Amino acid sequence: MIVSRSINTIRTAAGKARKKSKRIGFVPTMGALHKGHLSLVKAARKECGFVTVSIFVNPIQFGPREDFRSYPRNFKKDEMLLEAEGVDLIFYPSISGMYDRDFSVYVEEISLSRYLCGKSRPGHFRGVCTVVAKLFNIVQPDIAYFGQKDYQQAQIIKRMVKDLNFSLKVKVMPIVREKDGLAMSSRNKYLSIKERKDALCLYNSLMLASKMVKGGICSSATVVANMKKLIRNQAPYARIDYINIVNPGTLEEVKKIKGKVLAALAVYIGKTRLIDNMLLR
Ligand code: AMP
Repeated sequence: MIVSRSINTIRTAAGKARKKSKRIGFVPTMGALHKGHLSLVKAARKECGFVTVSIFVNPIQFGPREDFRSYPRNFKKDEMLLEAEGVDLIFYPSISGMYDRDFSVYVEEISLSRYLCGKSRPGHFRGVCTVVAKLFNIVQPDIAYFGQKDYQQAQIIKRMVKDLNFSLKVKVMPIVREKDGLAMSSRNKYLSIKERKDALCLYNSLMLASKMVKGGICSSATVVANMKKLIRNQAPYARIDYINIVNPGTLEEVKKIKGKVLAALAVYIGKTRLIDNMLLR
C-alpha cells in the first residue's frame, strides 16, 4: 500500500495502474474511519483493480463556528484499517498542499445546494464540490464511491460530474447503521453515553415516518409533526435543525407524498449535529 501526501506521487501511482488497464476506484473521506466508510472501500475493492482512498479534513467545507478543529483524526488507525481492506493507495494531503496561499477558484452547485443542509450550512457544499473536483482531477478515478448517509452530498456530486463532464461514474452505497439503528458517523465519537441514547431519536423518527407512509398517510406536514413529537418525547434536549420530506431528485419539499420521497433530518444532540435520511414510498 502506497501512502503519500504528494499529489505527484498519487498521480504517478494511479497513472501506472491506468496504464495496466486497471479500473481505478476512489473513496474520498475525512478519516476517523468506521464500517460505513469501509463498506465503500469494500465495494471499490470488489469492482476495481486499483483502490485509492483519500483522507483529508477539508477546512473550506466547515463554517467558522463548526467543528473543523475538533473533528476526530486518527491516521494510524485509519491506515491499519485500509491496509486490512487491501487498499492500494492512500492520499493524505496537507492543507497547504491542497490550497495554495493564492487559491481563488471554487466549484459551486446552485440548485440542490439550496435545500436541507445547504440551508443551515452556507458554503458547505461549495467547499465539498471544490475539494472533490480537485481530488477527481488528481486521482482521475473510473468509479467514485459515496454514502447515502450524506444523500444531498451524493446528489450534488452526481450533478457536478454531469454538468462539468467529469469522466467517471458515481456510485452511492447504502447507509451502514449500528445494531440499534444509529447511522454510523465519525461524529458519533463526540457523544456521551446519555447523548448516544438520545441520538437514536433520529433513526426512530425515520422509522415512524416510514410506517406512516406505508400506512397510507400522504401529508408531509402530518408526518413531520409526528417525527418532531417523537423526538421531543425521546430526547427532550435535542434541538432539531430541520426535518424535511423532499423529492429525492430535486430535493424540493413535497406537500403530498406520492411515489418515492426522501425523509431527511439534522438534529443537534448536545453540541453534536447529526444527520440521517431514509427513502420512503
Ligand atoms: P466523511 O468521512 O464523513 O466525509 O464520509 C466519507 C464518505 O463515507 C461519504 O461518502 C459518506 O457518505 C460515507 N459514509 C459516512 N458514513 C456512512 C455510513 N454510515 N454508511 C455509509 N456511508 C457512509
